[in-house]
Amino acid sequence: MAIEQDMLIAVEPVKTHTLQLANTNPLYSDFSTSANNTEIDKTKPLWHNYFLCGFKGIQEHFGLSNLPGMNCLVDGNIPPSSGLSSSSALVCCAGLATLTVLGMSLSKIYALWLLCPALVSRYLYHLEELCYSMKLAEICTKSEHYIGTEGGGMDQSISFLAEEGTAKLIEFSPLRATDVKLPSEAVFVIANSCVEMNKAATSHFNIRVMECRLAAKLLAKYKGLQWDKVLRLEEVQAKLGVSLEEMLLITEDALHTEPYSPEEVCRCLGISLQELRTQILSPNTQDVLIFKLCQRAKHVYSEAARVLQFKKMCEEAPDDMVPLLGELMNQSHASCRDMYECSCPELDQLVDICRKFGAPGSRLTGAGWGGCTVSIVPADKLPSFLANVHEAYYQQSARSLVPEEQRLFATKPGGGALVFLEA
Ligand code: ADP
Ligand code: MG
Repeated sequence: MAIEQDMLIAVEPVKTHTLQLANTNPLYSDFSTSANNTEIDKTKPLWHNYFLCGFKGIQEHFGLSNLPGMNCLVDGNIPPSSGLSSSSALVCCAGLATLTVLGMSLSKIYALWLLCPALVSRYLYHLEELCYSMKLAEICTKSEHYIGTEGGGMDQSISFLAEEGTAKLIEFSPLRATDVKLPSEAVFVIANSCVEMNKAATSHFNIRVMECRLAAKLLAKYKGLQWDKVLRLEEVQAKLGVSLEEMLLITEDALHTEPYSPEEVCRCLGISLQELRTQILSPNTQDVLIFKLCQRAKHVYSEAARVLQFKKMCEEAPDDMVPLLGELMNQSHASCRDMYECSCPELDQLVDICRKFGAPGSRLTGAGWGGCTVSIVPADKLPSFLANVHEAYYQQSARSLVPEEQRLFATKPGGGALVFLEA
């Protein structure tokens, strides 16, 4: 679900071909470049590079050259590097701002609907808007890779597809979003561990993506599928047409729990080390010596199963729904910590504190290795929960420096990206 914090960009088209970026936060320095020369330096994930990802994504998708310039002022209040996807919010916002300045934001159906609503049903208009959001999400997913992280598209999709008041189940191939009605008797609380983790400046995140990629290839080969084009574990399941539970059994048969060396991966796939490094691994994971393939695949398939169970439970709404949903979140945290190994001592401590003070379930959210937890809390316990967690975790001086509204807050499902046009 989208949270209530957001990323805003005020944008003004200019006649020159200069892209001028400023930020209300003095930590992020001004930046200026030619709109037709947008190099993204993967080795230095400075803030303006995330903007350039969105800008470049639109430029390349439409094959545009000779772009007009823009003056942009960015203002965001999403805690950065904390698992709430401030990076994707910036990339998506930049993509949408660029599209709007280029005058490509209104669909033909929308224009026709304004002229003659009788001709075009509201349903058709909404359908076109939805397709439009999905296309934008796909463009921005691809273009965030320019910063060096190999994200899967969940964050960009919810940035565009979120609707106020409802969570969404996001699925891929093809991209789709289904409403999930969250229980009215509970609230979701975000708590920031105050450990920042920049995903583009380190290789932790990409190593996990590569381990999943290798696991997918080995599983595909084990089942006699054409493995060289396979990139995601989900593709193996789709090609085999089996359930997630069956995929877990296949994983246990096909992959061992001892870590794989690059040489063993090469032997299994019948490729050279050179091919592994240059054709499969990302630039910042080429020197990794250990791949835990079985653990990562088991985490991914079991997590996907938990997501479906969560949705089903929200639909069936049994009397003990809140503790049951909480239990799924607790299982999820344990799997992140033990199988995917993307937690850290502060996140584990925070999850324990949240459970101790009344959350039936709590887990890390986002990529991990720092950042935030999300907890389900019965609505009537919210005030005491916030006070107790504040007392137990945020008294340390370094943690109390993080702005209050970025530290601990309850959130409802917010809406997705919007354009405000000057009258
Ligand atoms: P997250 O989990 O928040 O997505 P990432 O490490 O992927 O963390 O991205 C964080 C980066 O996004 C920051 O280092 C910064 O460059 C950029 N960013 C986040 N918020 C802002 C903002 N308000 N203004 C400019 N850049 C921002
Ligand atoms: Mg990010």
